[in-house]
Amino acid sequence: MAERQREREIVDPPTDTKTLRACLYCSLVRTLDQFEREGCLNCDSFLQLKRNKNRVSQCTSASFEGLISMLDPDTSWVGKWQKINGKSMAKGVYAVSVNGRLPRDILNDMPSDVASRYQPRTQS
Ligand SMILES: [Zn+2]
Repeated sequence: MAERQREREIVDPPTDTKTLRACLYCSLVRTLDQFEREGCLNCDSFLQLKRNKNRVSQCTSASFEGLISMLDPDTSWVGKWQKINGKSMAKGVYAVSVNGRLPRDILNDMPSDVASRYQPRTQS
């Protein structure tokens, strides 16, 4: 039961939609506050958003469309569509498309294999 409870907390979409942002690398959607406190669950090792408001505003976007809950990253199409470092993605809510691009200097700072896998999430 404890496991079930935890899962609900993770997958419930955040309620304050005004502050929702999507990660420009993996399209994970969290509140601004969550990104600032915990960073991105998939990308923080190279985006380093945690406790860095400036990075959060550069690497996440408030402009995105479509929300998908990913409950089972191993079998979900979202997981196949966007693999991060070959590892399963975090359970959570993802945007279908995200407007914006990671800044060049941030891409340059990433390990090259991570940077080369970056695909902007814009729809057009
Ligand atoms: Zn991310």
